[in-house]
Amino acid sequence: MAIGTILKVSGPLVTASGLQGAKIHEICKVSEKGLIGEIIELKKGIASIQVYEETSGIGPGEVVETTGAPLSVELAPGLLSQMFDGIQRPLDKYMAQTNSDYLERGVSISPLDWQKKWTFIPKKAVGDYVETGDIIGVVQETTAIEHRVMVPPNVSGEITEIKAGNYSIKEDICLIKTENGEKAIQMLQRWPVRKPRPFKTKMKPGQPLVTGQRVIDTFFPVAKGGSAAVPGPFGAGKTVVQHQIAKWSDVDIVVYIGCGERGNEMKDVINEFPELIDPQTGESIMERTVLIANTSNMPVAAREASIYTGITIAEYYRDMGYSIAVMADSTSRWAEALREMSGRLQEIPGDEGYPAYLGSRIAEYYERAGRFKTLGQEPREGSITAIGAVSPAGGDLSEPVTQNTLRIVKVFWALDSALAQKRHFPAISWVDSYSLYEDELNAYVDSLIGDEWSELVEKAMTILQEESRLEEIVQLVGIDSLSQKDRITMVTARSIRQDYLQQNAFDDVDTHTSRTKQFKMISNILSFNDHMQKAIRLGAYYDEIMKGTVQLREKIARSKYIHEDELDKLDHIQQEIQQTIQTIIENGGNE
Ligand code: ADP
Ligand code: MG
Repeated sequence: MAIGTILKVSGPLVTASGLQGAKIHEICKVSEKGLIGEIIELKKGIASIQVYEETSGIGPGEVVETTGAPLSVELAPGLLSQMFDGIQRPLDKYMAQTNSDYLERGVSISPLDWQKKWTFIPKKAVGDYVETGDIIGVVQETTAIEHRVMVPPNVSGEITEIKAGNYSIKEDICLIKTENGEKAIQMLQRWPVRKPRPFKTKMKPGQPLVTGQRVIDTFFPVAKGGSAAVPGPFGAGKTVVQHQIAKWSDVDIVVYIGCGERGNEMKDVINEFPELIDPQTGESIMERTVLIANTSNMPVAAREASIYTGITIAEYYRDMGYSIAVMADSTSRWAEALREMSGRLQEIPGDEGYPAYLGSRIAEYYERAGRFKTLGQEPREGSITAIGAVSPAGGDLSEPVTQNTLRIVKVFWALDSALAQKRHFPAISWVDSYSLYEDELNAYVDSLIGDEWSELVEKAMTILQEESRLEEIVQLVGIDSLSQKDRITMVTARSIRQDYLQQNAFDDVDTHTSRTKQFKMISNILSFNDHMQKAIRLGAYYDEIMKGTVQLREKIARSKYIHEDELDKLDHIQQEIQQTIQTIIENGGNE
């Protein structure tokens, strides 16, 4: 390990000389205090080190020591339900002790508990040939998740010993006879965060991530293994969308990376998540969640590292064959960290002061999402879905972070501040948003519940588009200029918006809607539309229909509050629609 001397300290950037043989991305200990830093540039014997801790009081002449290792994470049982900072220091333990957002400088706490004993159950036996990715045994990590202990990268050979029983993550549990001699395996693996973990093949995403959020699942679905961006101005609902997906989507594991916009936002997550009950297990959702937290008052460099720490943990569980959602809120705060470091390095700035490599960094991140066939002799399938919030200043979507993100992600949920102001939540614009997975995923849902699904979706969207066109006419020449048929269309469009797309994250029932319920709800709204249009064709009047359907419309509006185990109530509404309209048609002309 080389020892050097600090030349200059400028915020989180330290330059040092004398680090013979140091490598880019190598981790260093800076000053006697042992602050953690990473070499991000090497030029003419001068190393630029981004320091992950507060650098005040550190100055020229102090020592820097390289460690020989790149920024890495610990991967083993004990990750789930934990809360880490951007470089995987365990936050919750610390915060519980000190009641502060800061970790004391230079304190080295191992990310995972090295003492705790886990019950290891072997799945392989002495004499078995194993290679990278093979599962040698399992540990019940939380009630929800079985941890699959895998042969680490670059190891293969015959098992000469394997032990069942209670072991810590640092103890040897298995011996493998490799070409380079015997190799002892522990549950603990380390992996450098900036390097994607290896896999066998990357496949096309095929199945939807069911989020329980109606506007997303119905109109702008994201695939398991896909990527999505949620851009929107402050207060438009980015964080609520991210929380809802973390709580409700049908993935095995959630990695939530908070690059806090406001200091207390991460506190909300920290307080709120443990109380949330996972509908699938009845346990706290923390049982299947890893939180990476960066409040805005934490050092900027740790924020830069946090998304890599998060996605590496996701890759590790992917390798076990799980589906993972990685949420990053907000990637704009991450990009600002990148910009700040680039500025301190005096690099030539690109657009709006961001480094020229902003686009490639964003792409590299989202490319680590996907649906994968894992390594191992019996490959498993795992997926990582990456969902990033973007918070462009003033909601200006033309700024570089948004633009570079949109270039790479396949789903765009555009939050519209006008909708948010009208308290239409989620404020996902049905005009500006898109999903490039739509056709494929709708075809998949059709195969599950019949061809009707994509027909319904298309029809509902057409009615919303029709509404925009009709609204322009109304503004120009007044509502009286609309035909009876068009007025019914306006009624249906309003129902789609208010009764279907609006969804209250804070209502116990409305917060989540199963796909079956979504299907029944939208079927009812559209069937009502068909029946009303039919009545008009048969000579009924718009006013008549409105007068005769007050109660029915109220029922449709309240459908969202029907409990998931009472969905037959939605079928009854369906029957009532037919009867009510039939009565109106039969009474037509009698009044
Ligand atoms: P952002 O992260 O974009 O700044 P938030 O996600 O914090 O915005 O949302 C701001 C506020 O909007 C929330 O505190 C909440 O009152 C409201 N809101 C957003 N989405 C919903 C929703 N789905 N249901 C109910 N209220 C919502
Ligand atoms: Mg937010």
